[in-house]
Amino acid sequence: MARTPVIGNGTPEDPKRVDAALRPKLLTEVIGQTEVAQRLGIAVRAAKKLKEPLGHILFDGPPGLGKTTFATVLPNELGVSLQMTSGPALSKPADMLPFLTNLEEGSILFIDEIHRMPRVVEEFIYPAMEDFRIDIVLGEGLNARTISMNLKRFTLIGATTRSGMLSAPMRDRFKMHEHLEFYTAEELARIVTVNAAKLNIPIESDAAVELARRCRGTPRIANSRLYWVRNYAVSEGDGTINLEIARAALDMQNIDRVGLDKQDRRYLETLIDVFGGGPAGVEAIAATMNIPSDTLSDEVEPFLLREQYVIRTPRGRMATPKAFELLGKIAMRPTEQVQPGLFE
Ligand code: ADP
Repeated sequence: MARTPVIGNGTPEDPKRVDAALRPKLLTEVIGQTEVAQRLGIAVRAAKKLKEPLGHILFDGPPGLGKTTFATVLPNELGVSLQMTSGPALSKPADMLPFLTNLEEGSILFIDEIHRMPRVVEEFIYPAMEDFRIDIVLGEGLNARTISMNLKRFTLIGATTRSGMLSAPMRDRFKMHEHLEFYTAEELARIVTVNAAKLNIPIESDAAVELARRCRGTPRIANSRLYWVRNYAVSEGDGTINLEIARAALDMQNIDRVGLDKQDRRYLETLIDVFGGGPAGVEAIAATMNIPSDTLSDEVEPFLLREQYVIRTPRGRMATPKAFELLGKIAMRPTEQVQPGLFE
């Protein structure tokens, strides 16, 4: 009988919990992002020697590349506690109080999607970041008075998919800015192999390479596609992931040979079929596709830009010849494009 991969206590897990279980615990377990890991290693060793808290760190990059992973690895390396929250959960300064008052010396406070934190909360934490102090206003109107409260020295780690949306004063208060890039196919093949072993999933090396090539350069997508391919292998085969199984499972999810999914192809089709290849503004593309423009700019476009299926121009996004070729479309030369009003 095929083995059902299990983790931890032996219960088969859902993809979200699998994702958390697969998260590296120490810097040495992190695969790829070599320079970032080296710089963080130096900062950690210095903080330990100096007996100082780590300076505040900002991670930016598209979703699923390891921002939360680094934020959870650092407290393990330092032997300190971690509290986690996110920008949208902090609607007013008082929402920060439980986190700030629970701090321990040197501990880490992680704020995901920090660009979505309201400006009032941002301004409230400036003195906390700079001087480990907060100013609390008690009462209202003429009776209002401000009291200052000292905090334990801590490290704020922020993560954002949109560093451009962070205000300059907020950005400047971080001592380190680390940008995470998409992973190479080799790095992802290592991640897939290591994670398959952790989950007790038998996978052949050419199947791991296939998965790595078809996961949009993103470890989180590699994990979820590994989970799907594992299910396919258990249901349709003997549980082992070989090249044939991996290809069939990914094809069934409409993931193409270069790893693009349905949404990526719809974006390119819209740009090419509706906007003649562009230039087109992201808002117009999003409205035509009937999805939020944030989803396009945060999740869809970064990989398409990186792989040069799309370029950004001052007048909007344009599909490249590579995108036309991928979709089997013929690119019109600019002179062949019908200009509005020409035949009216
Ligand atoms: P983000 O916070 O940037 O959205 P995460 O840190 O949550 O991304 O990463 C998603 C998953 O991808 C993690 O649970 C982990 O399994 C995997 N992962 C991310 N980065 C790495 C890495 N450098 N090495 C190994 N696995 C990684």
